[in-house]
Amino acid sequence: ALKYTSFTGFRSMRFIFRSVSTLVLAEHEGGAISKASLSAVEAAKSLGDDCSVSVLLAGCGASLQQAAAHAASSHPSIHQVLTADSENFQHPLAEPWAKLVHLVQHKGSYSHIIAASNSFGKNILPRAAALLDVSPITDVVNICSSNQFVRPIYAGNALCTVRYTGNNPCLLTIRSTSFPVPAALFHSISNEAPISQVDLSTFCEESIGKSRYLKHTSQDKEPLKSMDNFKMIEKLAEKLGAAVGATRAAVDAGFVPNDLQVGQTGKIVAPELYMAFGVSGAIQHIAGMRDSKIIVAVNKDADAPIFQVADYGLVGDLFEVIPELLEKLPEK
Ligand code: FAD
Repeated sequence: ALKYTSFTGFRSMRFIFRSVSTLVLAEHEGGAISKASLSAVEAAKSLGDDCSVSVLLAGCGASLQQAAAHAASSHPSIHQVLTADSENFQHPLAEPWAKLVHLVQHKGSYSHIIAASNSFGKNILPRAAALLDVSPITDVVNICSSNQFVRPIYAGNALCTVRYTGNNPCLLTIRSTSFPVPAALFHSISNEAPISQVDLSTFCEESIGKSRYLKHTSQDKEPLKSMDNFKMIEKLAEKLGAAVGATRAAVDAGFVPNDLQVGQTGKIVAPELYMAFGVSGAIQHIAGMRDSKIIVAVNKDADAPIFQVADYGLVGDLFEVIPELLEKLPEK
């Protein structure tokens, strides 16, 4: 940890950025580039006014082509879209992706490679960094210059400014909530970047690596589903004279701003009454609210860990419980 508090990359001052050219590793689904990847493009913009941004998409067939067309038109800062079309990329496995990054870097000599700090970026980037023999800088929340970055340390209790002194390229994962994409971009076609195919002729079969895609299962995530539903919580808080907090899942989904996050990397609170609706009770969340005097939890999963710290627990659907509470509580 101490190494990180001062410098990353320990190869003297050989590293000098002349011009900034960035490769953004992008995720796509349903024929569109993900919002988190557009945040990575926003971050790339902060590296310098003259920064040229290339977006790398991998996949196969029509969905990749559709996503490439979407990426090419989705952000005015994207100068080029590169596509890697192969069965190897049907699913975003880290091993072939890392080798792809190595191949593309070999040809493009980018000064920076950026991905969002989500399961996609966090899976690929360290492997790519190892292949490129550089030290990545993770969870960047602010870009001060092309080689100076701010990232949280000590579980988010402090911010650390680090200077990259390693060789090219400088690899970064960024927290997408720190680089929001202007809403206007989602409603207008604002660019026409060229799309080029990556030559995969030197990309051998053994690149597939040791892992295999088995299946994708999704958890019952984001119970409040939308910002509108979160308003229901705000209404309840108003009636109770309470403040609203949130889990990191709700913050990451963009329902509420960062400063409402309760937990290890958010605020520590200890109110008289803490009511948790659709909160699983992950250890990182509990770290921020366990000292509350009375804890009430409503969760439709009777085995949710939140019930282990709750004084009162109700196994039920929050979409039934909250309207009932709103109806029964007197106006304030
Ligand atoms: P989920 O885990 O998706 O749980 C949703 C819950 O809602 C489930 O229990 C489900 O049964 C229930 N549910 C679904 N639908 C309904 C319904 N209709 N009615 C009732 N119940 C329903 N998290 C924080 O909150 N704060 C932090 O500071 C924090 N810091 C972190 C730091 C690190 C380093 C890491 C790795 C993680 C951190 N996290 C933090 C994330 C944490 O691990 C959990 O992912 C997060 O708290 C989960 O949020 P959640 O309970 O809202 O979502």
